[in-house]
Amino acid sequence: MVGRTQFLTMKITSAEFVMSNSNVAQCPKEPLPEYAFIGRSNVGKSSLINMLTQRKSLAKTSGRPGKTQLINHFKINNNWFLVDLPGYGYAKVSKKDKKTFQKYITAYFQHRKQLVCGFVLVDIRHDPQPIDLDFMEWLGTHGIPFALVFTKADKLKPADRELTVDRYLQKLLEGIWEEAPPHFITSSSNRMGREALLDYIATINRELRHTPG
Ligand code: GDP
Repeated sequence: MVGRTQFLTMKITSAEFVMSNSNVAQCPKEPLPEYAFIGRSNVGKSSLINMLTQRKSLAKTSGRPGKTQLINHFKINNNWFLVDLPGYGYAKVSKKDKKTFQKYITAYFQHRKQLVCGFVLVDIRHDPQPIDLDFMEWLGTHGIPFALVFTKADKLKPADRELTVDRYLQKLLEGIWEEAPPHFITSSSNRMGREALLDYIATINRELRHTPG
């Protein structure tokens, strides 16, 4: 059919660990588009990464000893980077007890030129948590694009999912946001949301390839 192309969901043909470090200056130099996954610990990030890439243990799931606080780069299809960031938390820095996020996380988001989109993971069963809202606000005020990923959707009845998500997005709109970020409803147990999330990444990658400069 002329003028119309149908794209199939991205097949993950290769997913390879490249490096771990805690310094954004030492991240891979290759100019590939990069997508970073972040959330509180136990949100289901490792399971989601393994589900997306269809690798049993590309990302280490929690409960394993020695899980380190590092920026982990995985090269997917020799074409883009998937970045597994450590769980975020507040680091108290100043005398005034001002809360801020861990330095290497903020440094990563502020300085990593290859970053295209951050995926902020939240457990669909939990009410909006201040730390997640604060982190999204931090991304927003720094002009860093992100999408919201609800995890463990299998834990809610289908009828409750949309309601819960709508309530969450409403909460964002009561804050600094004029419109809700793109969002995905996922489950690593039954692969819900896999296609939508990979299509989102593939679409951006295609647009980037066709953007001069
Ligand atoms: P991380 O600390 O964010 O990397 O979280 P993990 O991926 O290690 O998951 C934390 C816990 O949640 C583990 O016990 C997982 O088995 C469980 N979990 C993760 N994703 C899902 C999911 O989609 N559905 C269900 N039912 N459990 C999940």
